[in-house]
Amino acid sequence: MEVLKLGDRFGRVATDLRVSLTDKCNLRCTYCMPAEGLDWMPDDKMLTDDELVRLIRVGVERLGIEEIRFTGGEPLVRRGIVGLIGRVRDIDPHVDLSMTTNALGLARSAQALADAGLNRVNVSLDTVRADTFKTITRRDRVDDVIAGLAAAEAAGMGPVKVNAVLMRGVNDDQAAELLRWCLDRGYELRFIEQMPLDAQHGWQRDGMITADEIFAQLATVFELTPAEEPRGSAPAELFRVDGGPGTVGVIASVTRPFCGDCDRVRLTADGQVRNCLFARDESDLRLALRSGATDEEIARRWVTAVVGKLPGHGIDDPGFLQPDRPMSAIGG
Ligand code: SAM
Ligand code: SF4
Repeated sequence: MEVLKLGDRFGRVATDLRVSLTDKCNLRCTYCMPAEGLDWMPDDKMLTDDELVRLIRVGVERLGIEEIRFTGGEPLVRRGIVGLIGRVRDIDPHVDLSMTTNALGLARSAQALADAGLNRVNVSLDTVRADTFKTITRRDRVDDVIAGLAAAEAAGMGPVKVNAVLMRGVNDDQAAELLRWCLDRGYELRFIEQMPLDAQHGWQRDGMITADEIFAQLATVFELTPAEEPRGSAPAELFRVDGGPGTVGVIASVTRPFCGDCDRVRLTADGQVRNCLFARDESDLRLALRSGATDEEIARRWVTAVVGKLPGHGIDDPGFLQPDRPMSAIGG
């Protein structure tokens, strides 16, 4: 079988596939979704488990995909998730399988997910204070997230990573507190700059907390030294905290974009390939699948979709347009 590369015109090769399993979610984070939720994708447009497994198999066997991260919406709300992970694991015992999750319900499912072949989780947690958590996510569930984190660690899905978004006037005074909490438990914290991907289109450049502000705040409490490991395509700038071994990362997607090293490609829950979070074009693999395309035809269509990847996200360009799909329907 011929193995093709998912390369683009700027020399980048995609080997990391982000698969969105659903656009639905059981939280309503203000930087992501409106309080009332969104019009969810119709069921008949969602890829079935069989369709998802087939596309992922094409990615792994014909297109050089080495890592798969499941995301959403909230991937854990997809029915049959444990079985699906097991089927993807059966494609290849070596491919790295991880999940980005809000961890609601993870306390119950972590061991089963690990047994099915999930290697690691990234858990989103922006604060450890119950009142602030409720303000950000519009749900009173911080204890469930904390239990989910512990269960992931206990199930061997470490090192557990925590993703946090800081919002001005909401939790931007809690960066050091969250880092201390994560260090005490051996979780690897990464702050992510807020990006213009909210469904409400409320993002404003001067409202976001920048990486420099995050460093300045952390530096009042901790000594940060750049970690020695090469960064490669990893988006986080990594720092040792107080000499280590604990680390903290900052993902400066907006103020210090890392598009030149990007190795990602995305598949949405309704079967569209996106070559960038911020892409305005998609390639419809669901239609191809359902029209009887062969694996080879699907692989070629996927290659074409990646060739057209733009050099950068263009957030700073005067003509920047936010993609029509919000983060929750793309897969963050
Ligand atoms: N529901 C899961 C979760 O929250 O981890 C997975 C999907 S969520 C869209 C993936 C990640 O994107 C989360 O870490 C979340 O904090 C982040 N995110 C959502 N909206 C964002 C935005 N506008 N800017 C930056 N990160 C965002
Ligand atoms: Fe749900 Fe994740 Fe979006 Fe929060 S960030 S609303 S948990 S999809």
